[in-house]
Amino acid sequence: MSLSIPPAARPDLSPRPFTYANARLTCSGADLTELAERFGTPLYVYSADAIRERVSMLQTEFAAVPNTLCYAVKANSSLAILKMLGELGCGFDIVSGGELERVRRAAPQALRQVVFSGVGKQIWEIDAALNADILLFNVESEAELEVLSSRATALGKTAKIALRVNPDVFADTHPYISTGLREHKFGIAIERARDVYRRAAQLSGIEPAGVSVHIGSQIRAVEPFQQALVRVRGLAEELRSDGLNIRYIDGGGGFGIEYGVAAFDPAARVAEYSAAVRTALNGINVQLLLEPGRFLVAQAGALLTRVLYTKQNGAKHFVITDAAMNDLIRPALYQAHHEILPVLHESRASQLADIVGPVCESGDFFARDRLTPELRSGDLVALLDAGAYGMSLASHYNTRVHPAEVLIEAGHPRLIRRRETLDDLLAAELL
Ligand SMILES: *Cc1c(COP(=O)(O)O)cnc(C)c1O
Repeated sequence: MSLSIPPAARPDLSPRPFTYANARLTCSGADLTELAERFGTPLYVYSADAIRERVSMLQTEFAAVPNTLCYAVKANSSLAILKMLGELGCGFDIVSGGELERVRRAAPQALRQVVFSGVGKQIWEIDAALNADILLFNVESEAELEVLSSRATALGKTAKIALRVNPDVFADTHPYISTGLREHKFGIAIERARDVYRRAAQLSGIEPAGVSVHIGSQIRAVEPFQQALVRVRGLAEELRSDGLNIRYIDGGGGFGIEYGVAAFDPAARVAEYSAAVRTALNGINVQLLLEPGRFLVAQAGALLTRVLYTKQNGAKHFVITDAAMNDLIRPALYQAHHEILPVLHESRASQLADIVGPVCESGDFFARDRLTPELRSGDLVALLDAGAYGMSLASHYNTRVHPAEVLIEAGHPRLIRRRETLDDLLAAELL
């Protein structure tokens, strides 16, 4: 059974921008009931202030180390959010040519602060990134290195590269988002890396400039980050002794949050994290790249949905919402926990229910056996911590259109993505 919020209590939702004001749930001053009426549901709602606050937390804590924050676009790739992050001085970590195009449209001035990760870069994507003069290619195999060399040579470019090394560090997270073990598809085993760098240094169009690592996502302990960086630092020093001009260490992303109601002080966590990084990199003069995704945006967002029906099947009580797994797949895909709160805080008896969407799959659930205040048809509920890997993982499954997205800036809502229409959804199909 999942953790529950006692229905009578006004839960403390910090460090999130969501709070009850006069028993009505708000996001940075905007009333969620009004947003639902104005923009419809399901609706993603994000607080610009909350995102800014996380960026500044990292900037402050890492100020002692020369660094660039390269926001991981895949966490939430909304153009308006990318634009805002670009204005805050962030670079970007991309994993596709599509994400590069998003950066080009939303924050073109930041193209030179883009790092390109991913195990399966295609030629058109490599060419687009070379032509954009991005900061760094995080190369994940020798085969990719050869292709990159030939494309850079053909285009008259020099690709600055880091090998993404696999440090064989165990990070305690969901197996689908753990990436730092030898058995994973990511990166190059750290023991082989020195040889591959030697080969890279001989290739035309390639300039080894950094070492990169990313051990997974939603990692809440700092030790694995430190262990990985200690190994990476050792490699960087060896490479320098081999005569390579290694000036970047890319520590990846993966910094976790707390999804439940457990006390969570993100600033204290970041301080710990930054201390671990400084210990690992003490005395080595490099530019640190960080690729945070979830940490910056997850808690800034919620998915707002309306209860369609409730029903009792045998011993089970079901609450059926107008949002479904196609809008927020984390519970179905990662068994992830999201707090689910009534938007109007009324005093009602508590009830144990499965909160599910309309999609034709039993995997379409947001919570199972969750204790919430009784929910009735027409009620609005908010699924918290949906700002990362929510909309960016949305699909059209069951021919359902993507939700709309609203960004709250200085208390005012701005529609940053209109609700899709069925015409949008069907536009690419041919009869
Ligand atoms: C997904 C990913 C990130 C971001 O991970 P978060 O857990 O959202 O911080 C960073 N770097 C790479 C290479 C990734 O694949």
